[in-house]
Amino acid sequence: MPIDATLPYDDTNIFARILRGEIPANTVYEDDHALAFHDINPQAPIHILVIPKGSYVSWDDFSAKADDATIAGFVRAVGHVARENGLVAPGYRLLANIGGHGHQEVPHLHVHLFGGRQFGAMLP
Ligand code: C5P
Repeated sequence: MPIDATLPYDDTNIFARILRGEIPANTVYEDDHALAFHDINPQAPIHILVIPKGSYVSWDDFSAKADDATIAGFVRAVGHVARENGLVAPGYRLLANIGGHGHQEVPHLHVHLFGGRQFGAMLP
């Protein structure tokens, strides 16, 4: 079910639990700002999620509340993950689902990196 992205952060969500090490994830990258792991239900040959380490529900939440170093660190981590997974030369798709209309299901901000195949002109 899509979430209401205006609700306060709920630290029992599954990505918060992954960040706390309570449940496993297939991690591909981690630094002070971000954690990246393979999506459990991949929609492309390469499907990686990158999440900020702070408690942000949505892009709005993140852009309004995170400091500049945190935002820069997260953006750099996404770029690093794309490079390290060979996505840059062939190209890839970067997507964030936000709130109800965006069909966001996990209430912790995350971006999807899709790669390894040709995508159509619109969304996956
Ligand atoms: O729709 P939304 O962008 O919120 O998608 C959440 C994603 O998180 C889904 O692609 C789902 O497969 C993924 N997921 C995951 N590991 C979990 C729970 C969800 O990779 N433990």
